[in-house]
Amino acid sequence: MPCTRRERNLSDWLSASEAMLEKAGIESARLEAQIIAAHLLGQSRSWVLAHPDQPVAENFGEDVLGRRLLREPLAYILGWREFYGRRFKVGLQVLIPRHETEVLIDYAIEHLAGHPEAKVLDWGTGSGCIACTLKLERPLDSVWAIENSSEALKVAQDNAEYLGSSVNFCLSDGSKGMPPQIFDLILSNPPYIAASELLAPELYHEPAEALFAEEDGLAHYRRIAQECKDILAPGGILLLELPDGKSEQVIALFEEQGWTKLGTRKDLGGMVRALALHLP
Ligand code: GLN
Repeated sequence: MPCTRRERNLSDWLSASEAMLEKAGIESARLEAQIIAAHLLGQSRSWVLAHPDQPVAENFGEDVLGRRLLREPLAYILGWREFYGRRFKVGLQVLIPRHETEVLIDYAIEHLAGHPEAKVLDWGTGSGCIACTLKLERPLDSVWAIENSSEALKVAQDNAEYLGSSVNFCLSDGSKGMPPQIFDLILSNPPYIAASELLAPELYHEPAEALFAEEDGLAHYRRIAQECKDILAPGGILLLELPDGKSEQVIALFEEQGWTKLGTRKDLGGMVRALALHLP
């Protein structure tokens, strides 16, 4: 009897792909292989796990796997990243939303308790993840978002439309390009990586202007400390995401400008990640 080769199935593909991803230094290799298979098959991850015998072509997933092996971020390959339980579309124009930034959302929600009429500004909105999430989580009066890259702004507007989140977007480098107004809450996750820092290969795919900042990563905080004094309502709050291990430096910089620290919050890794400030 002629010997026939067994057809390649999903289980074979998952094992082989996991091994390749692991060898390339990718941490959650098994999970990523499952996510890629689900994406390619247009199915959920649980479907993938429940169908190990599903036949797959010899070249199944070759392109996508190749891109990931070159350390392109998975979010860019899939075209989305989950943030606060919702999918945000992402592309090379925007920073990929990070789980750490969800700490900023939780902190904002704490501050907004009992203030449904609050007017909020997201400074440097990128994908729009902060502004859109807050508008969907809280019945706020109005949420504004500024961004200095027109390409990023398009992505944010697209996300707002697709998620049904009504945010007022404005192409503006800092607050000056916006109609004059004041806000009860201003949030920002500014670019804060110093040029000298060594980064994982994935980060070099993201827009440099969304990641790096001059003055050892602190330049945007300096600008925010200056400009936000004029656009924060009396009793208003400024909430910032913080770089790893630099909370004291950022706090000192704001205190020099007349701001007072209200509190901080840590992320799941135990790093001080969010800072609340006000002008006494
Ligand atoms: N606000 C966006 C985010 O947190 C973009 C931040 C940025 O580009 N630095 O993902």
